[in-house]
Amino acid sequence: MLIADKFTHQIRACVGQENVLTEKTDCWVYGYDNSRRQASPDLVVFATETSQVKNIIDLCHQYEIPLITRGRGTGTTGATVPVSGGLILSLERMDKILKIDPANRYLIAQPGVTNQAIQQAAAQHGFFWPPDPTSSEFCTLGGNLAYNSAGPRAVKYGTPRENTLGLRAVIGTGEEIHTGVCTTKGVVGYDLTRLLIGSEGTLAVITEATLKLTPLPEVTHSLKAVYRDIQNAAKAVSAIMAQPVTPSSLEFIDKASINMIREYSDIEMPVADAILMIEIDGNRSGMEDSIQSIKCAATNDGLLSIEDAENEQERQSLWRTRKALSPALRKIAPKKINEDIVVPVSNIPALLEGLEHLSEQHGIAIVNFGHAGNGNIHVNLLIDPDKDDQLQEAEICLGHVFDLVLSLDGTLSGEHGVGLEKRNFIDREIDPVTLGLMKKIKQQFDPKNILNPGKTLPE
Ligand SMILES: Cc1cc2nc3c(=O)[nH]c(=O)nc-3n(C[C@H](O)[C@H](O)[C@H](O)COP(=O)(O)OP(=O)(O)OC[C@H]3O[C@@H](n4cnc5c(N)ncnc54)[C@H](O)[C@@H]3O)c2cc1C
Repeated sequence: MLIADKFTHQIRACVGQENVLTEKTDCWVYGYDNSRRQASPDLVVFATETSQVKNIIDLCHQYEIPLITRGRGTGTTGATVPVSGGLILSLERMDKILKIDPANRYLIAQPGVTNQAIQQAAAQHGFFWPPDPTSSEFCTLGGNLAYNSAGPRAVKYGTPRENTLGLRAVIGTGEEIHTGVCTTKGVVGYDLTRLLIGSEGTLAVITEATLKLTPLPEVTHSLKAVYRDIQNAAKAVSAIMAQPVTPSSLEFIDKASINMIREYSDIEMPVADAILMIEIDGNRSGMEDSIQSIKCAATNDGLLSIEDAENEQERQSLWRTRKALSPALRKIAPKKINEDIVVPVSNIPALLEGLEHLSEQHGIAIVNFGHAGNGNIHVNLLIDPDKDDQLQEAEICLGHVFDLVLSLDGTLSGEHGVGLEKRNFIDREIDPVTLGLMKKIKQQFDPKNILNPGKTLPE
């Protein structure tokens, strides 16, 4: 798009020359994310404080320039890709932890701080922040909040929505707002904190967050349970979730994933149809009973073996299996459609059966793994780049995958969000009246539709 020199000049005046990129080649590298889509922004601006964010949004509002907020661009659904050009607001330099209050169990941070830096700072006081995406080393708090990103621990501790007390943010008019509280109870007014979390930068730019901290557990115990068939593994997931001890993670790997890890890594894998990786954390006293309770629930006719990690080294070694998945997938299928659907845990067997059927029907290999305790399964449709018609077939198959998920009372995304990738599917899940209300909410926050236009909600 054509950006007036006057606008660029005013932006430079607001953040300083050194915090603005306008060269095409410099801008290009800020136009992609892990969806592998890319588009070029017209300029990239780095902000370091809320007052700058306010001024930048105020100018974008005046000139009607699209503004796309960016953390580190690790998102997988294209939400940071500037499809309409405009300004990328990079918050990676807004990376300070402002306060840690152990007595009141909260931490206040700027959005550009990485998830890992938050965990390290909290750990010094004996706490952690539960959301734990695998990308924690690189991804930012702002991205975690805007996508409601989580990870294996969500089964016990929840997502950012359950672990954030309040936000400071700037809406599409350049006005600053404060949502929530810094206490663990508070019910005054509508819950705008939960509304902004997961809104993918379309309603406001988050400039500060008050995060609810949880004490670190004394001990963590890991188990690896191997199953003859997928139905018994799925039955075990339901049995584990139906008893009183909540695991701190309950991850699932299917047969195709097991075979893939065997082939593309040096890890020895069992000949089996499914593996559950289970973690239990808590106080030392009572841990033995918790482990027995989980083992008892995990045991059924299809269980082939259950292995304990006796120490940290063995624990890390067990988790190598899970971590080997992404690199193996990249090797086997440089092109894939990677979804993160969710169904109620008791519907996992029907989901997996349905996916097997769709895989055969469309001739598309499907690899499944993920956060079984939440019913959040990463469904990967592998595409052979040498076969021209496969991408088209995979897209048809994807539509059927989504229909299957919705027929099982599920949802299209558990943690990766909508962005560009799922935008045209969400009216299958959300009814027209609710969708209309969401569009009106967007207008209230961002009357000129400058904040991340073309994302999240359908046209
Ligand atoms: C190897 C790998 C592993 C991953 N594992 C997981 C996983 O286990 N679980 C999971 O949930 N995700 C995972 N992801 C996806 C991704 O890392 C997360 O979605 C992460 O939260 C994105 O953070 P980011 O800083 O890169 O955000 P970006 O990708 O830069 O932005 C994501 C969204 O947030 C918006 N945004 C960013 N900052 C702000 C802000 N301050 N205010 C308003 N909006 C903002 C952007 O506009 C965009 O809509 C993984 C990605 C990779 C590459």
